[in-house]
Amino acid sequence: MRIFVISILNKTLAEFEGVFYASYGKRQYHSRAVYRHFFQRGSCDCTGLKEFAQNPALARRVLHDLAVPAIEIETVCEDSKSVKFTSRLRDGECIETVILKYPRRMTLCLSSQVGCRYGCVFCSTGTMGFIRNLTVEEIVWQVYAAVHLLGYAVRNVVYMGMGEPLDTSEVVCHSIEILREQRGFDIAPANITVSTAGHIPGLEQLFSASFVNLRIALSLHSCDSAVRDQLMPINRRYPIEAVLAVLEQRLKDTGGQLFAEYLYFPGWNNRPYDVDALVALSERVPLRLNLLTYNQGTAPFFLHQETTHGIEQFRHDLVARGVHVLVRDSRGESISAACGQLVNKKRKNARE
Ligand code: SF4
Repeated sequence: MRIFVISILNKTLAEFEGVFYASYGKRQYHSRAVYRHFFQRGSCDCTGLKEFAQNPALARRVLHDLAVPAIEIETVCEDSKSVKFTSRLRDGECIETVILKYPRRMTLCLSSQVGCRYGCVFCSTGTMGFIRNLTVEEIVWQVYAAVHLLGYAVRNVVYMGMGEPLDTSEVVCHSIEILREQRGFDIAPANITVSTAGHIPGLEQLFSASFVNLRIALSLHSCDSAVRDQLMPINRRYPIEAVLAVLEQRLKDTGGQLFAEYLYFPGWNNRPYDVDALVALSERVPLRLNLLTYNQGTAPFFLHQETTHGIEQFRHDLVARGVHVLVRDSRGESISAACGQLVNKKRKNARE
């Protein structure tokens, strides 16, 4: 039976070096080799590495002591543009993770919570209610699984899966530190996007972590607080004007752009008022608006109508007035892996 276990997925290189030294009395030469081998090759077995040629007994001890969490990939489903895998965590809870396949890159959409407390009306995850935050290890494990268990060369990561990442910002910040380790997965902050529905304390914590070039994506969906109150209850706690003020100040301080997601709900957020509000926002901050159709089945009846009617006119009206707009194609809808569709089905409707 194992009585001594070192977790590696929840440690930056410096943290791992500290534990390695405390455990074996060996400094960087060996610990760096172990760390690189684990994250870049997916293996705990260092017996063949040149760094351990003079000390095979140490390699055997490390192999015995290193632990990968006992998380299982339960299902994998795939269509031409995406792969979704469901993982069963140690306590039996399930999370979903999506790999988005692009011609020259793979992007991994990570979950940060089991469920979500914010209950946006268009989002399946919100129907679960909040179950718990993921640990650092469980977040980083999703990258390990995509790269080393499923074999995808992930170069971009978006925190847009299940949960509001900034509701657990300390854990998310720690996981980003690990993902960007050059001797680890080596994913640059410029290739990492944290999406938020507008969590002000989490944004402030993320900004204090000083990740250079880290991308923030705001789930905007409306600049009208009254509409947003109905679509996204988080707006009642952190109103959109206050969220935008925090982001505007950040962009003034550091430069960069505001990436905003805008689900198109005809009759709700495509009025002349909404065009004016988005134009005004683009004059305040460098705005890149991703316009998306929502995925059928995730929205309640009062949003159910023709999802794309007028979207081209709306895009045209915005572009004509200088707003940078991209209409994004939905990926993964056929395997319930698209935006707003991730859910642990056993937990679905827990809040009802
Ligand atoms: Fe939570 Fe995001 Fe879904 Fe809203 S959209 S319920 S914040 S996971």
